[in-house]
Amino acid sequence: MSSIPVLILGAGPAASLLSMALQPLGISPVVIGRHRRRPAVEGLSQRVVDALVGFECRHALEMLGPRWHRVSRWAGSESAMNGEFVVERSQFDRSLMQDAIAHGVSFHEGTVSRVKRVSDGGFEVIWQDAFGNHHLTQAAMVVECRGQAAPKEAPDIHAPYALVAITRTFSNVPVHDRVTLTESFEHGWAWGGVDPTGMASLQVVVTQEMLAEHDNDLSAVHSRCVGALTLIPDYLGTACEPTGHLSARAIRPVLRAARFSRDQLHVGDACYTNDPLSGHGVFEAASGALAAAPAINTLIHHPRDADTAVAYLEDRSRAIFASRMQAARDLYRLETTWRDAPFWRQMQAFELSAPAAAGRSAPAVTLEERGVVESGRIVKRPVLVSPEYPRGVRFSGQVDLGQLVSLKQRHPDISREALSRALSVSPDDVAMACAFVRTMQQPAAAGAESPRAHH
Ligand SMILES: Cc1cc2nc3c(=O)[nH]c(=O)nc-3n(C[C@H](O)[C@H](O)[C@H](O)COP(=O)(O)OP(=O)(O)OC[C@H]3O[C@@H](n4cnc5c(N)ncnc54)[C@H](O)[C@@H]3O)c2cc1C
Repeated sequence: MSSIPVLILGAGPAASLLSMALQPLGISPVVIGRHRRRPAVEGLSQRVVDALVGFECRHALEMLGPRWHRVSRWAGSESAMNGEFVVERSQFDRSLMQDAIAHGVSFHEGTVSRVKRVSDGGFEVIWQDAFGNHHLTQAAMVVECRGQAAPKEAPDIHAPYALVAITRTFSNVPVHDRVTLTESFEHGWAWGGVDPTGMASLQVVVTQEMLAEHDNDLSAVHSRCVGALTLIPDYLGTACEPTGHLSARAIRPVLRAARFSRDQLHVGDACYTNDPLSGHGVFEAASGALAAAPAINTLIHHPRDADTAVAYLEDRSRAIFASRMQAARDLYRLETTWRDAPFWRQMQAFELSAPAAAGRSAPAVTLEERGVVESGRIVKRPVLVSPEYPRGVRFSGQVDLGQLVSLKQRHPDISREALSRALSVSPDDVAMACAFVRTMQQPAAAGAESPRAHH
């Protein structure tokens, strides 16, 4: 039996987008995944749409529809901001996989039951197809994109809390333009969408303890939460009626251990999961796929840089997870109305993981060699690292900051014009880059974004 060079497990955005990102690098992966079983309504940012355009995802883009207006009430202030695109995830994920297939990706619909590392290298993957037939597939490299269902190989590095999201749909809602609504309330926060057909979907996010206190009665908890809301009921109207059954999903931000090695990688939720208040999982899956593709290319075609590629993915996932958790905590701390309520006490006190916890106080800027993406692969280049930019910054505009700083270190009195000539950029570009380096040397001000603001 011949071994597949790259086998991707899963059928969500991480799997389909990674498979598409590998094709232009001359790598043809095989994908084995089971389609998402339960429907879920989620919001997508413009940046996801930009990624879909970049990948030419015709099917997924066709099902997006117009952008929804977004209204939020948080910490006593109300804002209407740039909108989001609202999708039903099982349909969206299927469209994305259709796009991958249209790009030439080989997809097998099936449920993976076992991934076994074999002693002479590579993996054996056992899976069952849609007709119940069992298969064994051999692969040199496995990329885990099975989301939170991906088996855990070691204890999580950081898993600060667990919440539960309960969703219910309503009919007979007053007709509105498409609008999404975010609102904080005593027991948690809510996110919903109201569409022009008189339908609405409303997700409330509460502690698991609150659910337990109500004997796990989803309906009772949802109704109690709706009773505590002030903004969203204005949109739902007084005649709205619950339809269908309620669904519950766990929200469990986590940075997993054992995410990357030379032949096994984790991408998307299988690598780290955000709180949907501050980070947008589909965007993270897309950006994770875009980062994993050059790393896989390096592991296969430039194995001398394999350690750099693995370190690049490690640093990236750790830093992004930390910054999303910092953003979530800033948002939770911004809301002080119900400071003593159990939900808010828990969400304002959770521990951050490194490197965000390392703080914003010590503004040491160093020049370090780090892995960066260049020509579809990962190579080591000098970048400027600071507490606020733990992964390093390579360019400011056209200016290579590594070259700029080393020139200034070697020639402390060098003029802007001489730098401009040495770096082949304009004196204005040099001035902007120098100003940027100065801001890196100052402590960053802590600040929260709007809830569910899209990065
Ligand atoms: C309550 C809640 C609300 C959220 N809201 C938003 C939002 O509004 N916007 C947003 O961007 N993100 C949101 N997210 C996050 C988002 O759902 C995930 O981050 C995103 O789906 C991650 O994509 P993924 O491809 O990594 O994993 P997933 O989408 O989980 O995909 C995993 C895939 O693996 C398949 N699979 C699982 N087990 C097996 C197996 N044994 N064999 C084969 N295949 C398997 C699954 O069927 C699925 O296709 C929310 C999450 C939660 C919990």
